[in-house]
Amino acid sequence: MNLELNEEQAAVRELAAGFVNREIVPHAAAWDRAEQVDRGIVKKLGALGFLGLTIPEEYGGSGGDYLSYVLVTEELGRGDSSVRGLMSVSLGLVTKSINAYGSEEQKRRWLPRLCAGEALGCFALTEPGTGSDAGNLSTRAVRDGESGDWVLNGAKMFITNGTWAEVALVFARTGGDDPAQAGHRGVSAFLVPTDTPGLTRTTIHGKLGLRGQPTAELAFEDVRVPHSAMLGEEGKGFAVAMAALAKGRMSVAAGCVGLIQASLDAAVAYATQREQFGKPIAAHQLVQEMLADIKVELDAARLLTWRVADLIERGLPFRAEGSVAKLYASEAAVKAANTALQVYGGYGFVDEYPVGKFVRDARVMTLYEGTSQIQKLLIGRELTGINAF
Ligand SMILES: Cc1cc2nc3c(=O)[nH]c(=O)nc-3n(C[C@H](O)[C@H](O)[C@H](O)COP(=O)(O)OP(=O)(O)OC[C@H]3O[C@@H](n4cnc5c(N)ncnc54)[C@H](O)[C@@H]3O)c2cc1C
Repeated sequence: MNLELNEEQAAVRELAAGFVNREIVPHAAAWDRAEQVDRGIVKKLGALGFLGLTIPEEYGGSGGDYLSYVLVTEELGRGDSSVRGLMSVSLGLVTKSINAYGSEEQKRRWLPRLCAGEALGCFALTEPGTGSDAGNLSTRAVRDGESGDWVLNGAKMFITNGTWAEVALVFARTGGDDPAQAGHRGVSAFLVPTDTPGLTRTTIHGKLGLRGQPTAELAFEDVRVPHSAMLGEEGKGFAVAMAALAKGRMSVAAGCVGLIQASLDAAVAYATQREQFGKPIAAHQLVQEMLADIKVELDAARLLTWRVADLIERGLPFRAEGSVAKLYASEAAVKAANTALQVYGGYGFVDEYPVGKFVRDARVMTLYEGTSQIQKLLIGRELTGINAF
Protein backbone atom coordinates (compact mmCIF):
# COMPACT_ATOMS: atom_id res chain seq x y z
CA MET A 1 0.00 0.00 0.00
CA ASN A 2 1.39 3.37 -1.05
CA LEU A 3 0.85 5.90 1.74
CA GLU A 4 1.81 8.90 -0.36
CA LEU A 5 -1.06 10.78 -1.97
CA ASN A 6 -0.73 11.52 -5.67
CA GLU A 7 -1.30 15.04 -6.98
CA GLU A 8 -4.98 14.47 -7.72
CA GLN A 9 -5.67 12.97 -4.29
CA ALA A 10 -3.82 15.78 -2.51
CA ALA A 11 -5.78 18.37 -4.52
CA VAL A 12 -9.17 16.83 -3.78
CA ARG A 13 -8.32 16.62 -0.08
CA GLU A 14 -7.33 20.30 -0.04
CA LEU A 15 -10.50 21.25 -1.88
CA ALA A 16 -12.61 19.30 0.61
CA ALA A 17 -10.75 20.71 3.63
CA GLY A 18 -11.26 24.31 2.44
CA PHE A 19 -14.93 23.67 1.74
CA VAL A 20 -15.47 22.08 5.15
CA ASN A 21 -13.71 24.92 6.98
CA ARG A 22 -15.71 27.60 5.13
CA GLU A 23 -19.12 26.06 4.54
CA ILE A 24 -19.64 23.47 7.26
CA VAL A 25 -17.63 24.01 10.47
CA PRO A 26 -19.05 27.51 11.15
CA HIS A 27 -22.64 26.21 10.87
CA ALA A 28 -22.48 22.71 12.35
CA ALA A 29 -23.60 23.69 15.87
CA ALA A 30 -26.53 25.77 14.59
CA TRP A 31 -27.66 22.97 12.25
CA ASP A 32 -27.48 20.54 15.15
CA ARG A 33 -29.68 22.79 17.31
CA ALA A 34 -32.13 23.39 14.45
CA GLU A 35 -32.25 19.62 13.71
CA GLN A 36 -31.55 20.34 10.06
CA VAL A 37 -28.48 21.06 8.00
CA ASP A 38 -28.91 23.71 5.29
CA ARG A 39 -30.40 21.84 2.38
CA GLY A 40 -28.34 23.96 -0.02
CA ILE A 41 -25.32 21.94 1.08
CA VAL A 42 -26.41 19.08 -1.21
CA LYS A 43 -26.10 21.19 -4.37
CA LYS A 44 -22.76 22.56 -3.16
CA LEU A 45 -21.44 19.03 -2.66
CA GLY A 46 -22.67 18.20 -6.15
CA ALA A 47 -21.10 21.30 -7.71
CA LEU A 48 -17.70 20.31 -6.30
CA GLY A 49 -18.03 16.85 -7.82
CA PHE A 50 -18.06 15.15 -4.42
CA LEU A 51 -21.40 13.39 -5.03
CA GLY A 52 -20.02 11.88 -8.23
CA LEU A 53 -16.70 10.54 -6.90
CA THR A 54 -15.81 7.13 -8.41
CA ILE A 55 -18.76 7.44 -10.86
CA PRO A 56 -17.79 7.58 -14.57
CA GLU A 57 -17.88 11.01 -16.21
CA GLU A 58 -20.23 9.80 -18.96
CA TYR A 59 -22.97 9.54 -16.30
CA GLY A 60 -22.21 12.93 -14.75
CA GLY A 61 -19.70 11.60 -12.25
CA SER A 62 -16.31 13.08 -11.45
CA GLY A 63 -14.35 9.83 -11.65
CA GLY A 64 -11.63 9.66 -9.04
CA ASP A 65 -10.40 6.70 -7.09
CA TYR A 66 -11.51 5.18 -3.80
CA LEU A 67 -8.83 6.88 -1.74
CA SER A 68 -10.06 10.26 -3.03
CA TYR A 69 -13.55 9.26 -1.93
CA VAL A 70 -12.18 8.31 1.51
CA LEU A 71 -10.28 11.60 1.81
CA VAL A 72 -13.38 13.69 1.03
CA THR A 73 -15.46 11.57 3.41
CA GLU A 74 -12.86 12.06 6.17
CA GLU A 75 -12.98 15.83 5.68
CA LEU A 76 -16.79 15.91 5.76
CA GLY A 77 -16.68 13.75 8.90
CA ARG A 78 -14.32 16.27 10.46
CA GLY A 79 -16.81 19.05 9.69
CA ASP A 80 -20.16 17.48 10.48
CA SER A 81 -21.20 13.84 10.66
CA SER A 82 -24.72 14.75 9.48
CA VAL A 83 -23.40 16.13 6.20
CA ARG A 84 -20.97 13.24 5.87
CA GLY A 85 -23.85 10.80 6.28
CA LEU A 86 -25.92 12.52 3.58
CA MET A 87 -23.12 11.83 1.13
CA SER A 88 -22.25 8.35 2.38
CA VAL A 89 -25.82 7.22 1.84
CA SER A 90 -26.70 9.04 -1.37
CA LEU A 91 -23.42 8.41 -3.17
CA GLY A 92 -22.01 5.43 -1.28
CA LEU A 93 -25.11 3.27 -1.03
CA VAL A 94 -27.48 4.47 -3.77
CA THR A 95 -25.56 6.11 -6.64
CA LYS A 96 -22.85 3.46 -6.58
CA SER A 97 -25.43 0.66 -6.55
CA ILE A 98 -27.16 2.14 -9.61
CA ASN A 99 -23.77 2.44 -11.31
CA ALA A 100 -22.91 -1.18 -10.49
CA TYR A 101 -26.26 -2.89 -11.11
CA GLY A 102 -28.40 -0.44 -13.11
CA SER A 103 -29.67 -0.83 -16.65
CA GLU A 104 -28.56 1.80 -19.15
CA GLU A 105 -31.95 3.48 -18.76
CA GLN A 106 -31.71 3.54 -14.94
CA LYS A 107 -28.20 4.97 -15.11
CA ARG A 108 -29.20 7.73 -17.57
CA ARG A 109 -32.27 8.57 -15.52
CA TRP A 110 -30.73 8.82 -12.08
CA LEU A 111 -26.93 9.12 -12.09
CA PRO A 112 -26.49 12.64 -13.59
CA ARG A 113 -28.99 14.15 -11.14
CA LEU A 114 -27.59 12.30 -8.13
CA CYS A 115 -24.02 13.28 -9.02
CA ALA A 116 -25.00 16.93 -9.49
CA GLY A 117 -26.84 17.06 -6.15
CA GLU A 118 -30.09 17.80 -7.97
CA ALA A 119 -31.47 14.62 -6.47
CA LEU A 120 -30.66 12.72 -3.30
CA GLY A 121 -30.93 8.99 -2.70
CA CYS A 122 -31.95 6.99 0.35
CA PHE A 123 -31.31 3.32 1.11
CA ALA A 124 -34.31 1.52 2.57
CA LEU A 125 -33.32 -1.82 4.04
CA THR A 126 -34.04 -1.70 7.80
CA GLU A 127 -37.60 -2.35 8.99
CA PRO A 128 -39.25 -2.01 12.40
CA GLY A 129 -38.90 -5.78 12.92
CA THR A 130 -35.59 -6.43 11.15
CA GLY A 131 -32.34 -4.54 11.71
CA SER A 132 -29.28 -6.79 12.06
CA ASP A 133 -31.32 -9.65 10.59
CA ALA A 134 -32.04 -7.65 7.44
CA GLY A 135 -32.41 -10.74 5.24
CA ASN A 136 -35.68 -11.55 6.99
CA LEU A 137 -37.34 -8.29 5.94
CA SER A 138 -41.06 -8.45 5.35
CA THR A 139 -41.89 -5.56 2.98
CA ARG A 140 -43.54 -7.28 0.01
CA ALA A 141 -43.55 -6.59 -3.71
CA VAL A 142 -46.17 -8.48 -5.68
CA ARG A 143 -46.33 -8.58 -9.48
CA ASP A 144 -49.56 -7.34 -10.96
CA GLY A 145 -50.27 -9.90 -13.68
CA GLU A 146 -52.03 -7.53 -16.04
CA SER A 147 -49.69 -4.56 -16.11
CA GLY A 148 -46.50 -6.34 -15.05
CA ASP A 149 -46.00 -3.59 -12.43
CA TRP A 150 -44.78 -4.35 -8.93
CA VAL A 151 -46.93 -3.29 -5.97
CA LEU A 152 -45.07 -2.68 -2.68
CA ASN A 153 -46.49 -2.86 0.83
CA GLY A 154 -44.61 -2.58 4.11
CA ALA A 155 -42.58 -0.24 6.31
CA LYS A 156 -38.98 0.89 6.59
CA MET A 157 -37.27 2.34 9.67
CA PHE A 158 -34.37 4.75 10.34
CA ILE A 159 -33.92 5.77 6.71
CA THR A 160 -31.21 8.42 6.31
CA ASN A 161 -32.20 11.14 3.79
CA GLY A 162 -35.68 9.58 3.88
CA THR A 163 -37.67 12.81 3.78
CA TRP A 164 -35.29 14.60 1.40
CA ALA A 165 -34.55 11.91 -1.15
CA GLU A 166 -35.99 11.91 -4.67
CA VAL A 167 -35.27 8.21 -5.11
CA ALA A 168 -35.38 5.37 -2.61
CA LEU A 169 -33.47 2.14 -3.14
CA VAL A 170 -35.98 -0.21 -1.54
CA PHE A 171 -35.49 -3.86 -0.65
CA ALA A 172 -38.65 -5.96 -0.72
CA ARG A 173 -39.60 -9.61 -0.67
CA THR A 174 -40.66 -10.89 -4.09
CA GLY A 175 -40.27 -14.56 -3.29
CA GLY A 176 -43.82 -15.17 -2.09
CA ASP A 177 -44.27 -18.09 0.33
CA ASP A 178 -41.98 -20.50 -1.53
CA PRO A 179 -39.60 -21.89 1.18
CA ALA A 180 -36.78 -21.92 -1.37
CA GLN A 181 -37.18 -18.15 -1.54
CA ALA A 182 -37.16 -17.64 2.23
CA GLY A 183 -34.82 -15.23 4.02
CA HIS A 184 -32.42 -13.25 1.90
CA ARG A 185 -33.05 -15.38 -1.21
CA GLY A 186 -36.46 -13.89 -1.95
CA VAL A 187 -35.45 -10.23 -1.81
CA SER A 188 -35.36 -7.85 -4.80
CA ALA A 189 -34.21 -4.24 -5.09
CA PHE A 190 -36.32 -1.41 -6.54
CA LEU A 191 -35.66 2.23 -7.44
CA VAL A 192 -38.77 3.99 -6.19
CA PRO A 193 -39.27 7.70 -6.94
CA THR A 194 -40.35 9.13 -3.61
CA ASP A 195 -43.29 11.02 -5.10
CA THR A 196 -44.94 7.72 -6.05
CA PRO A 197 -48.50 7.61 -4.66
CA GLY A 198 -48.85 5.45 -1.54
CA LEU A 199 -45.38 6.24 -0.16
CA THR A 200 -45.50 8.21 3.12
CA ARG A 201 -42.39 9.57 4.80
CA THR A 202 -42.27 10.67 8.43
CA THR A 203 -39.31 12.38 10.11
CA ILE A 204 -37.92 10.73 13.24
CA HIS A 205 -37.25 13.42 15.87
CA GLY A 206 -35.36 13.26 19.14
CA LYS A 207 -32.20 11.52 17.94
CA LEU A 208 -29.20 11.57 20.29
CA GLY A 209 -26.89 12.67 17.48
CA LEU A 210 -26.82 13.26 13.72
CA ARG A 211 -29.58 15.73 14.46
CA GLY A 212 -28.98 17.75 11.31
CA GLN A 213 -29.66 14.76 9.13
CA PRO A 214 -33.17 13.79 8.01
CA THR A 215 -33.92 10.29 9.28
CA ALA A 216 -37.33 8.89 8.43
CA GLU A 217 -39.82 6.09 8.62
CA LEU A 218 -41.24 5.08 5.24
CA ALA A 219 -44.65 3.48 4.80
CA PHE A 220 -45.59 1.72 1.56
CA GLU A 221 -49.25 1.29 0.84
CA ASP A 222 -49.88 -0.20 -2.61
CA VAL A 223 -46.91 1.66 -4.08
CA ARG A 224 -46.88 0.77 -7.76
CA VAL A 225 -43.70 0.84 -9.87
CA PRO A 226 -43.03 -0.55 -13.35
CA HIS A 227 -40.87 -3.65 -13.79
CA SER A 228 -38.14 -1.36 -15.14
CA ALA A 229 -37.74 0.00 -11.57
CA MET A 230 -36.17 -3.29 -10.43
CA LEU A 231 -32.43 -2.88 -9.80
CA GLY A 232 -30.49 -6.01 -10.70
CA GLU A 233 -32.13 -9.40 -11.04
CA GLU A 234 -35.30 -10.60 -9.36
CA GLY A 235 -34.46 -12.40 -6.12
CA LYS A 236 -30.88 -11.03 -6.11
CA GLY A 237 -31.63 -7.83 -4.23
CA PHE A 238 -29.94 -8.90 -1.02
CA ALA A 239 -26.63 -9.20 -2.88
CA VAL A 240 -27.13 -5.59 -4.05
CA ALA A 241 -27.66 -4.50 -0.44
CA MET A 242 -24.67 -6.44 0.91
CA ALA A 243 -22.35 -5.18 -1.85
CA ALA A 244 -23.41 -1.60 -1.06
CA LEU A 245 -22.89 -2.07 2.68
CA ALA A 246 -19.50 -3.76 2.21
CA LYS A 247 -18.15 -0.57 0.63
CA GLY A 248 -20.38 1.55 2.86
CA ARG A 249 -18.42 0.32 5.89
CA MET A 250 -15.32 1.97 4.47
CA SER A 251 -17.31 5.18 4.16
CA VAL A 252 -18.54 5.05 7.78
CA ALA A 253 -14.97 4.27 8.89
CA ALA A 254 -13.67 7.30 6.93
CA GLY A 255 -16.34 9.49 8.54
CA CYS A 256 -15.17 8.22 11.93
CA VAL A 257 -11.57 9.07 11.08
CA GLY A 258 -12.73 12.63 10.39
CA LEU A 259 -14.63 12.73 13.66
CA ILE A 260 -11.59 11.48 15.59
CA GLN A 261 -9.46 14.13 13.85
CA ALA A 262 -11.95 16.82 14.88
CA SER A 263 -11.91 15.52 18.46
CA LEU A 264 -8.11 15.61 18.54
CA ASP A 265 -7.88 19.08 16.99
CA ALA A 266 -10.39 20.45 19.50
CA ALA A 267 -8.67 18.73 22.46
CA VAL A 268 -5.19 19.97 21.51
CA ALA A 269 -6.42 23.53 20.97
CA TYR A 270 -8.18 23.60 24.33
CA ALA A 271 -5.40 21.87 26.27
CA THR A 272 -2.76 24.31 25.07
CA GLN A 273 -4.87 27.35 25.92
CA ARG A 274 -6.66 26.43 29.19
CA GLU A 275 -4.56 26.95 32.31
CA GLN A 276 -4.77 25.22 35.70
CA PHE A 277 -2.18 25.10 38.48
CA GLY A 278 -0.37 27.99 36.79
CA LYS A 279 0.30 26.29 33.44
CA PRO A 280 -1.56 25.07 30.35
CA ILE A 281 -3.39 21.83 31.13
CA ALA A 282 -1.41 20.31 28.21
CA ALA A 283 1.65 20.62 30.45
CA HIS A 284 0.16 18.04 32.82
CA GLN A 285 1.27 14.56 31.86
CA LEU A 286 -2.13 12.94 32.32
CA VAL A 287 -3.67 15.42 29.87
CA GLN A 288 -0.95 14.66 27.33
CA GLU A 289 -1.73 11.00 27.81
CA MET A 290 -5.33 11.65 26.75
CA LEU A 291 -4.14 13.46 23.61
CA ALA A 292 -1.67 10.70 22.79
CA ASP A 293 -4.35 8.03 23.23
CA ILE A 294 -6.56 9.78 20.66
CA LYS A 295 -3.65 10.23 18.25
CA VAL A 296 -2.68 6.55 18.28
CA GLU A 297 -6.24 5.45 17.54
CA LEU A 298 -6.62 8.12 14.87
CA ASP A 299 -3.59 6.86 12.96
CA ALA A 300 -4.64 3.22 13.31
CA ALA A 301 -8.21 3.95 12.15
CA ARG A 302 -6.96 5.97 9.19
CA LEU A 303 -4.52 3.28 8.06
CA LEU A 304 -7.16 0.54 8.35
CA THR A 305 -9.57 2.66 6.28
CA TRP A 306 -7.04 3.55 3.60
CA ARG A 307 -6.18 -0.15 3.34
CA VAL A 308 -9.77 -0.89 2.30
CA ALA A 309 -9.63 1.79 -0.42
CA ASP A 310 -6.34 0.37 -1.63
CA LEU A 311 -7.72 -3.19 -1.80
CA ILE A 312 -10.83 -2.05 -3.72
CA GLU A 313 -8.69 -0.06 -6.13
CA ARG A 314 -6.53 -3.12 -6.81
CA GLY A 315 -9.54 -5.40 -7.28
CA LEU A 316 -8.65 -7.53 -4.23
CA PRO A 317 -11.03 -8.97 -1.58
CA PHE A 318 -11.83 -6.28 0.96
CA ARG A 319 -14.97 -7.31 2.88
CA ALA A 320 -13.33 -8.57 6.08
CA GLU A 321 -10.93 -5.63 6.04
CA GLY A 322 -13.94 -3.32 5.65
CA SER A 323 -15.49 -4.82 8.78
CA VAL A 324 -12.17 -4.48 10.63
CA ALA A 325 -11.93 -0.80 9.65
CA LYS A 326 -15.56 -0.04 10.50
CA LEU A 327 -15.40 -1.85 13.85
CA TYR A 328 -12.13 -0.24 14.89
CA ALA A 329 -12.83 3.28 13.64
CA SER A 330 -16.35 3.47 15.07
CA GLU A 331 -15.32 2.24 18.52
CA ALA A 332 -12.30 4.59 18.40
CA ALA A 333 -14.56 7.53 17.45
CA VAL A 334 -16.76 6.94 20.51
CA LYS A 335 -13.64 6.83 22.74
CA ALA A 336 -11.93 9.80 21.07
CA ALA A 337 -14.96 12.09 21.37
CA ASN A 338 -15.42 11.05 24.99
CA THR A 339 -11.74 11.64 25.78
CA ALA A 340 -11.87 15.06 24.08
CA LEU A 341 -14.82 15.93 26.31
CA GLN A 342 -12.74 14.89 29.34
CA VAL A 343 -10.00 17.29 28.24
CA TYR A 344 -12.56 20.11 28.17
CA GLY A 345 -13.66 19.39 31.73
CA GLY A 346 -17.03 20.92 32.64
CA TYR A 347 -17.01 23.12 29.53
CA GLY A 348 -17.23 19.98 27.40
CA PHE A 349 -20.63 19.34 28.92
CA VAL A 350 -22.03 22.59 27.50
CA ASP A 351 -23.06 22.85 23.87
CA GLU A 352 -21.25 26.15 23.35
CA TYR A 353 -18.22 23.91 22.78
CA PRO A 354 -18.04 21.35 19.97
CA VAL A 355 -17.07 18.16 21.81
CA GLY A 356 -20.48 17.33 23.27
CA LYS A 357 -21.84 17.09 19.73
CA PHE A 358 -18.91 14.86 18.76
CA VAL A 359 -19.87 12.45 21.57
CA ARG A 360 -23.52 12.37 20.46
CA ASP A 361 -22.68 12.00 16.76
CA ALA A 362 -20.06 9.31 17.38
CA ARG A 363 -22.45 7.10 19.28
CA VAL A 364 -24.40 5.92 16.24
CA MET A 365 -21.30 4.78 14.39
CA THR A 366 -21.11 1.48 16.30
CA LEU A 367 -24.79 0.87 15.55
CA TYR A 368 -25.57 1.48 11.90
CA GLU A 369 -24.37 -0.28 8.75
CA GLY A 370 -23.87 -3.33 10.94
CA THR A 371 -23.40 -3.04 14.72
CA SER A 372 -20.03 -3.80 16.32
CA GLN A 373 -21.35 -7.25 17.25
CA ILE A 374 -22.31 -7.91 13.62
CA GLN A 375 -18.87 -6.78 12.40
CA LYS A 376 -17.25 -9.25 14.84
CA LEU A 377 -19.45 -12.05 13.49
CA LEU A 378 -18.47 -11.14 9.93
CA ILE A 379 -14.78 -11.14 10.85
CA GLY A 380 -15.19 -14.41 12.77
CA ARG A 381 -16.93 -16.04 9.82
CA GLU A 382 -14.10 -14.96 7.54
CA LEU A 383 -11.53 -16.45 9.95
CA THR A 384 -13.28 -19.75 10.64
CA GLY A 385 -15.67 -20.35 7.77
CA ILE A 386 -18.36 -20.85 10.43
CA ASN A 387 -21.49 -18.72 10.33
CA ALA A 388 -22.26 -17.80 13.96
CA PHE A 389 -25.19 -15.47 13.29
C1 LIG B 1 -29.38 7.42 12.71
C2 LIG B 1 -29.59 6.12 11.99
C3 LIG B 1 -29.55 6.10 10.61
C4 LIG B 1 -29.79 4.90 9.93
N1 LIG B 1 -29.80 4.90 8.55
C5 LIG B 1 -30.24 3.79 7.89
C6 LIG B 1 -30.45 3.82 6.47
O1 LIG B 1 -30.22 4.83 5.81
N2 LIG B 1 -30.94 2.71 5.88
C7 LIG B 1 -31.21 1.56 6.56
O2 LIG B 1 -31.66 0.60 5.95
N3 LIG B 1 -30.98 1.49 7.92
C8 LIG B 1 -30.52 2.58 8.58
N4 LIG B 1 -30.32 2.54 9.96
C9 LIG B 1 -30.62 1.31 10.67
C10 LIG B 1 -29.40 0.61 11.23
O3 LIG B 1 -28.64 0.05 10.20
C11 LIG B 1 -29.89 -0.42 12.26
O4 LIG B 1 -30.33 0.33 13.39
C12 LIG B 1 -28.82 -1.42 12.64
O5 LIG B 1 -28.57 -2.29 11.57
C13 LIG B 1 -29.20 -2.27 13.87
O6 LIG B 1 -30.49 -2.76 13.75
P1 LIG B 1 -31.53 -2.57 14.97
O7 LIG B 1 -31.50 -1.14 15.34
O8 LIG B 1 -32.84 -3.15 14.55
O9 LIG B 1 -30.92 -3.39 16.16
P2 LIG B 1 -31.04 -5.00 16.42
O10 LIG B 1 -30.71 -5.74 15.17
O11 LIG B 1 -32.35 -5.26 17.06
O12 LIG B 1 -29.87 -5.22 17.47
C14 LIG B 1 -30.00 -4.89 18.85
C15 LIG B 1 -28.76 -5.40 19.57
O13 LIG B 1 -28.64 -6.82 19.42
C16 LIG B 1 -27.40 -7.16 18.86
N5 LIG B 1 -27.52 -8.33 17.97
C17 LIG B 1 -28.45 -8.55 17.01
N6 LIG B 1 -28.24 -9.72 16.40
C18 LIG B 1 -27.14 -10.27 16.98
C19 LIG B 1 -26.42 -11.47 16.81
N7 LIG B 1 -26.72 -12.37 15.86
N8 LIG B 1 -25.36 -11.70 17.61
C20 LIG B 1 -24.98 -10.78 18.53
N9 LIG B 1 -25.63 -9.63 18.76
C21 LIG B 1 -26.70 -9.38 18.00
C22 LIG B 1 -26.95 -5.91 18.09
O14 LIG B 1 -25.54 -5.87 17.89
C23 LIG B 1 -27.45 -4.81 19.02
O15 LIG B 1 -26.54 -4.62 20.06
C24 LIG B 1 -30.03 3.71 10.65
C25 LIG B 1 -30.03 3.75 12.06
C26 LIG B 1 -29.82 4.92 12.73
C27 LIG B 1 -29.87 4.92 14.23
